[in-house]
Amino acid sequence: MVQYSGIQVSEYLTDTYAETVKTKIIASGERDGTGWVAVERSLFHPQGGGQPADRGRLDEHEVLPVRDHDLGLITLSSADGTALPALADGDTVVTRIDLGLRLLHAALHTAGHLVEAVVRSHGWTTVGNNHFPGQARVEFQTGSPDPRLADPEGREAVTGELREAIARAIEADLPVGAGHDGDGRRLIRLGDIHTAPCGGTHVRSLGELAHVTLPALRVKKGRIKVSYSAEHRAAS
Ligand SMILES: [Zn+2]
Repeated sequence: MVQYSGIQVSEYLTDTYAETVKTKIIASGERDGTGWVAVERSLFHPQGGGQPADRGRLDEHEVLPVRDHDLGLITLSSADGTALPALADGDTVVTRIDLGLRLLHAALHTAGHLVEAVVRSHGWTTVGNNHFPGQARVEFQTGSPDPRLADPEGREAVTGELREAIARAIEADLPVGAGHDGDGRRLIRLGDIHTAPCGGTHVRSLGELAHVTLPALRVKKGRIKVSYSAEHRAAS
């Protein structure tokens, strides 16, 4: 069992835009023959909750974050196959995330919440989501399907309504905030139109979203699949 001292702080939860931090090693070990380290202040979001992992650097080494559920730590391993240097607990390192990739992930994740927000009037229940670039979608089920979902023209009409509601929310530049409920769960909030438990990264306000597009929704095996794409305005 790996011993470690100090508490790891997941700084990506408090600041989506923090790009670099000087911090210290609090643990190190080996998994499947590959060395890893854990830092005290983690800017790195590991893959999870439908959001891909951040990429970035520890000093000059490219690293990939992985959540170690047994240890309860986000660990950093070499991303390019080269070994990390031997680092001891207490050593100081500089970590840096790929901010462009982070902002893309945050835009896609926030746009997924926005899709959930605008279907609320339809009474659909979220049953799955994926915020990966190129495959982002939210899947829903409903007990009382809109009869328009039965044919392509109707599905296009419903999708058109979702597109308009999304455009209005972005135009209104609704604020995106995070807080905690009475049980300590982190909640994400889009203005007053959406609240959901979430451990991902998000933009500050919906006006930061660009190029949010929805192809016509699909219905498969009783599931309504709303695919989408989105970018951060800084990249467009
Ligand atoms: Zn989220």
